[in-house]
Amino acid sequence: MALKDYKDIIHRCFRCGYCKFTSDYSYLGFNCPVYSKYRLESYSPGGMMWLIYASLVKGELKPSKHLSQILYSCTMCRNCSQECKFKFNEDIVNILKAAREEMVDKQLVPQIVGQFLTNVYDYGNPYRELKQNRDNWAENTEIKHYEKGDEFLYYVGCVGSYDTVSQKAARALGSVLLKSGLPFGFLGSREVCDGNEVDMLGEKGLFEFLKEENTQIFKELGVKKIVTLSPHSYNALKNNYSNEFEVFHYTQLLRDLVKSGKLDVSRGFKAKVTYHDPCFLGRYNNEYDAPREILTAIPGVELVEMERTKENSFCCGGGGGNFYTDILGSGKDSPSRIRVREAHDTGANILAVACPVCMMMLEDALKAEGLEDELAIKDISEVMNAALL
Ligand code: SF4
Ligand code: SF4
Repeated sequence: MALKDYKDIIHRCFRCGYCKFTSDYSYLGFNCPVYSKYRLESYSPGGMMWLIYASLVKGELKPSKHLSQILYSCTMCRNCSQECKFKFNEDIVNILKAAREEMVDKQLVPQIVGQFLTNVYDYGNPYRELKQNRDNWAENTEIKHYEKGDEFLYYVGCVGSYDTVSQKAARALGSVLLKSGLPFGFLGSREVCDGNEVDMLGEKGLFEFLKEENTQIFKELGVKKIVTLSPHSYNALKNNYSNEFEVFHYTQLLRDLVKSGKLDVSRGFKAKVTYHDPCFLGRYNNEYDAPREILTAIPGVELVEMERTKENSFCCGGGGGNFYTDILGSGKDSPSRIRVREAHDTGANILAVACPVCMMMLEDALKAEGLEDELAIKDISEVMNAALL
């Protein structure tokens, strides 16, 4: 819906502030990553609602680059929609997105957001990487391209395809799928950005274009089932593409393959592990169990939870394109560094992730915190790969 369709809803926000916290208030800090960083009401979900109402609905404030900077610092983590106590809570992230669409229309997006969108339009990815390089992560592996008749299309996404840290997860998942014997393949240079971040950044037209491009190739190849590396791709493909494909996040598929005995984890993996819930798997798609069921099925893994976990998980700060735009910024109070310190406090020696964006954000934070000798970031697919016979 467009922002005008929310005009009777936005003003109902009381700025009471429930949306800044966790659901049980047992955690004394703030769970909105933006407010946690800046501690200014204008950077809180309720403050943003009022700014949007005054500027983009009532016209009492002139929409400005400064407003745009505030709106684009939000990581779209969805804590506010989950925690707001009012009936319109589901609309809050939609209002934030609709306000960004207005910013796109008014050509007021921050320069770095414009760059992200232009790169995706020109190259099919935000990194300005050539399409043919989208295959590179699978070089020297036996992971092959999708062929008609394969049961699963392995949709890798931009971060897993191009980011050198996250490519480790892309390869590990490919290796696990090979060991399962499941017929699958990836698209490589025929894959374009899934558009999840483009949609979150408010570029509806570009999102529709990307959706069309991907859907066309899925149909040409007769794809029926898709497994994604990234929860961001999972969210876009499952909820915002047509429903003619069955879409799984890889943790759901691997959990089922372990349960059915197609993956044998009896070699085990000895480690104390804590798990970071990605927003687009947890809060957006209510999947908290599959990653934990995988980890606890592996002999030798001791799973310990962080203080903020499951629906109360604290965003790594990379959502809504922030992994690229970095509008929320770095520093000791950045969400990723706070999250790494929380993981370290559990005494775990592995911080397990199930998202290539979380992986790159938390890996950088780990180095900034100087904790590389005490904690390692590993994707669940890497842990699983090490445990397979
Ligand atoms: S969004 Fe909901 S919880 Fe947050 S300030 Fe507004 S009314 Fe309160
Ligand atoms: S979506 Fe997350 S980052 Fe954005 S305002 Fe809501 S709680 Fe804060």
